[in-house]
Amino acid sequence: MYVNFADYSRGAAVATDLVNTSPIVRAAGDAVADPAALGAFLAAHDIQRDTNGTELALMHALRDEVRAVLEADTEAEAVAGANALVEKAARGPVLRQDENRRWHWLVTTAPDAPLAHELAVLIGIGLLGTLRSLGFARFRPCASPACAGVFVDTSKAGRRRYCMPEVCGNRVNVANHRARIRQQYV
Ligand SMILES: [Zn+2]
Repeated sequence: MYVNFADYSRGAAVATDLVNTSPIVRAAGDAVADPAALGAFLAAHDIQRDTNGTELALMHALRDEVRAVLEADTEAEAVAGANALVEKAARGPVLRQDENRRWHWLVTTAPDAPLAHELAVLIGIGLLGTLRSLGFARFRPCASPACAGVFVDTSKAGRRRYCMPEVCGNRVNVANHRARIRQQYV
């Protein structure tokens, strides 16, 4: 796998989405409970892979590690945790040309690295890039009181509030709406 230093938002998005597949966050249960679900998760992030039960177990372990980095108490702890993710399988850097003949600094992964270690490098680079460019304050818990999710905010303005905006944001809006309606009728 090739991981572009400059495109940290991709790895950060995979980190957020992976952490929030957990049964800690999902009331309906683990969103990557079997290899097929893991394959679908990867495909949604433009990673085409056949998966198996061994890889699934490693991905669940990675998910816990990534959550611990996002919940780190200090910036130094977060950096150490993200460095450890990168160190699982990173090689390089190397310089490669894209289809428009522009050169990019890339980290490669060890050829025999398991899927979860490749993902660890992608996520680690994403988290380190976010820390360096945007700061530790971009690692945040979901603002929904009903949600245990965490996320990385790589938006320009830095005002993202929810781990899954379409789910948690709506839930808060619905709750507020219901509260307003109740107030009207008491
Ligand atoms: Zn949430």
